[in-house]
Amino acid sequence: ETFESFNLKRELLMGLFEAGFEKPSPIQEEAIPVALMGRDILARAKNGTGKTAAFIIPTLEKIKPKVDKIQALILVPTRELALQTAHVVKTFSRHMGLQVMVTTGGTSLKDDIVRLYDPVHILVGSPGRVLDLASRNIAKLDSCQMFVMDEADKMLSPEFQNIVEQILEFLPQSQPGRPNNYQSLLFSATFPRTVKTFMDRHLYKPYEINL
Ligand code: AMP
Repeated sequence: ETFESFNLKRELLMGLFEAGFEKPSPIQEEAIPVALMGRDILARAKNGTGKTAAFIIPTLEKIKPKVDKIQALILVPTRELALQTAHVVKTFSRHMGLQVMVTTGGTSLKDDIVRLYDPVHILVGSPGRVLDLASRNIAKLDSCQMFVMDEADKMLSPEFQNIVEQILEFLPQSQPGRPNNYQSLLFSATFPRTVKTFMDRHLYKPYEINL
C-alpha cells in the first residue's frame, strides 16, 4: 500500500510527504480505508504504531475547508497530548487552509472564547474545557461530523467518563438507521470494560482493529 492508493486530496498528500510519511504503517493501512468509507472504528493500538496519523489522515480528508464550522473534535486526556496531536494535524494540513485550535484546562477560558470568534475547523482538547465551551454554546459542535478519542481507556476513567458522555450530547444526533450523525474513531492501548460499554452504547457497527 501507499498513501496515494487512498485517493487523498492532493493538499493532504503533499503535507504527508513533506512530513516524511511515505508508506503507511500497518495500523494506518487497516484504519484509513475503513475510516474513509465512513465506518466507526475501535482500534487497540499502542504508542509508536502510527495511531495518531491513522485517525488524523481520514479526519483531514473529510474536512471541508470552505465550511467555517467545527467539523472534527479530537478528545485527548492531557494538554501535552492535545498540543502534540494538534501539531501533527497542523503539519499534515499545512496546504489545506484549516484552522486548528487546542483547548484544555490550565489556560485562560477567556482567550479560548475570543479565539472561537474566528472560524475553527478542528478542535483538539481535553474533556473539561471542551464541555465548558460546548455547554456555553461557544464551541458549536452541531456540525461536527468526526469524533475522535485517543487514549480512550484514560478518557473513560471515572474522572472523565461522565464529561465525555455529556460532550456527546452536543454532537449531531440520530438519523434513522444510524444512532449517530457523526463518525467515531476510538483508539485505546487497553480494552477495559468501560471502553467496551462505551463502544456498545455509542458506536455503530464499529470495525475493530487489534494490533
Ligand atoms: P504514534 O504511534 O502515532 O505516536 O507515532 C509514532 C511515530 O511514528 C511518530 O513520530 C510518527 O511521526 C511516526 N510515524 C507514524 N506513521 C508513520 C509513517 N507512515 N511514516 C513515517 N513515520 C511515521
